[in-house]
Amino acid sequence: MTTPDFGLVLNHIDGKDVPALDGAVFDKIAPATGKLLARVSASGERDVDAAVRAAAAVLDGAWGRTPGQERGRLLHRLADLVEAEAAELARSQSHEQGKPMVDAQMMDIPLSVDTLRYFAGWADKLEGRTIPTAGFMGRQTLNYTYRAPVGVAALIVPWNAPLMIAIWKLAPALAAGCSVVIKTSEDAPLAAGRLGALATAAGFPPGVVNIVHGTGPKAGTALTQHPLVRKISFTGSTEVGRLIARTGAESFKRVTLELGGKAAQIVFADAQLDEAVAGIAMGLFLNQGQTCAAGTRILVQRPLLGAIEERLTAAARAVELAGPEGGPATPGTQMGALINARHHRRVRAVVEEARAEGARCLTDGQKPVPDEGYFMRPAIFTDVRPGMILAREEVFGPVGAIMPFDTEDEAIALANDTRYGLSTSLWTRDISIAHRASARLEVGAVAVNCWSPLDARLPWGGLKDSGVGRDLSRAALDGYLEEKAVTVML
Ligand code: NAD
Repeated sequence: MTTPDFGLVLNHIDGKDVPALDGAVFDKIAPATGKLLARVSASGERDVDAAVRAAAAVLDGAWGRTPGQERGRLLHRLADLVEAEAAELARSQSHEQGKPMVDAQMMDIPLSVDTLRYFAGWADKLEGRTIPTAGFMGRQTLNYTYRAPVGVAALIVPWNAPLMIAIWKLAPALAAGCSVVIKTSEDAPLAAGRLGALATAAGFPPGVVNIVHGTGPKAGTALTQHPLVRKISFTGSTEVGRLIARTGAESFKRVTLELGGKAAQIVFADAQLDEAVAGIAMGLFLNQGQTCAAGTRILVQRPLLGAIEERLTAAARAVELAGPEGGPATPGTQMGALINARHHRRVRAVVEEARAEGARCLTDGQKPVPDEGYFMRPAIFTDVRPGMILAREEVFGPVGAIMPFDTEDEAIALANDTRYGLSTSLWTRDISIAHRASARLEVGAVAVNCWSPLDARLPWGGLKDSGVGRDLSRAALDGYLEEKAVTVML
């Protein structure tokens, strides 16, 4: 396939598209071809400082005085513009990520638009409370609270769903009245990077939505350390999340962290087999397995073990990879390319390590022809035991690990036997098992007879090494608001 040229990708600061102040750029490579896709502004400390100062100034000025109804109207207008540009946003995201274009069209874009509209509805409903007390020093008091934006929010996003995850953070931040600086991922700066210009075109005052591109160590560190940033919302790896938690603690910034996962798919013996296999396959192969909720630990009650091994292997072998001509835009494509050469090497190395540890390979992720881009076929292993790499590590690729269990207690213990705690799927027709198990799983989200049904109204986030706080739902909004208490002596 040919690689399109997306030209030079600029920052968006104070309402204008601008290059990095020192003119620095980096190359963005297309995962499907391994060739140059775009050159991107490589921001440094001075660019980040300009963006944060623009955000702080407008918060002190026009944006700070913008009422909730107007913030809601602007968010709806931004949703309209994202919808109007849906085809181009899906195209750029497919090329920068290597994901099938249809995934962006069916999932990323509609969920992004819905999230903007959901939080638009909250913008004029940020009510405080009146709270009765016994008074103060023998005098009656009137006590009330109101909700104020926390201030400038730094939104740091990953590459695996760049536009959607940026909007998960942007929409509640703007509804709450914060101004923001988005740091895009160096691996996926195109679609998320459009949000600055689109927000300005929607009518948000210049400085409310700023975009800085650049690397994590340089632009990301400058942003998280900036003294005018009051809130950091980060989605990415657990390792970087840990660094950011420490940085945030230095100046007591509010920190929300959405980190890695190692989700279990628990299949009980009474499960509806066709539905379970389809759901497990989706949880393994969507986005080439590069989702935080990827259901990579497939725990199967022993009577179904053979059937699941057989059907999942067949499903893995039947996956349609991106065609050589149209790449991930090819109609019918189910899986595209992994994000970059380094990650592709790592996922292949994990497959080899799994073999060396004695896990039994049912189908392996051989790279398909033609020999360009970072493609791999799904790999399924069975006889995986606790402690093996496939039971332990987030692989972030299309690699599934089947592990048998006998009893409900054993399934829960296996599912909880991980440092992560993001999400789990349960496959059973027994409502007692479903509710009992849901309560005992150490995760932020349980899906029963489905896999990871993301929705703007449902909180999304994890426990343990999967993070702190929540994206989406009213819980996300609370993360961008301070509740201030006022006591009036009467
Ligand atoms: P990453 O941690 O490498 O990078 C994420 C972002 O952080 C990027 O923008 C990067 O430039 C920036 N960054 C890197 N170092 C930084 C630093 N020192 N200071 C500030 N910013 C820095 O993660 P990734 O590879 O882009 O994304 C994959 C990871 O994201 C996986 O672990 C996945 O599970 C996780 N993820 C979690 C969720 C969730 O909701 N829990 C959703 C999607 C992805």
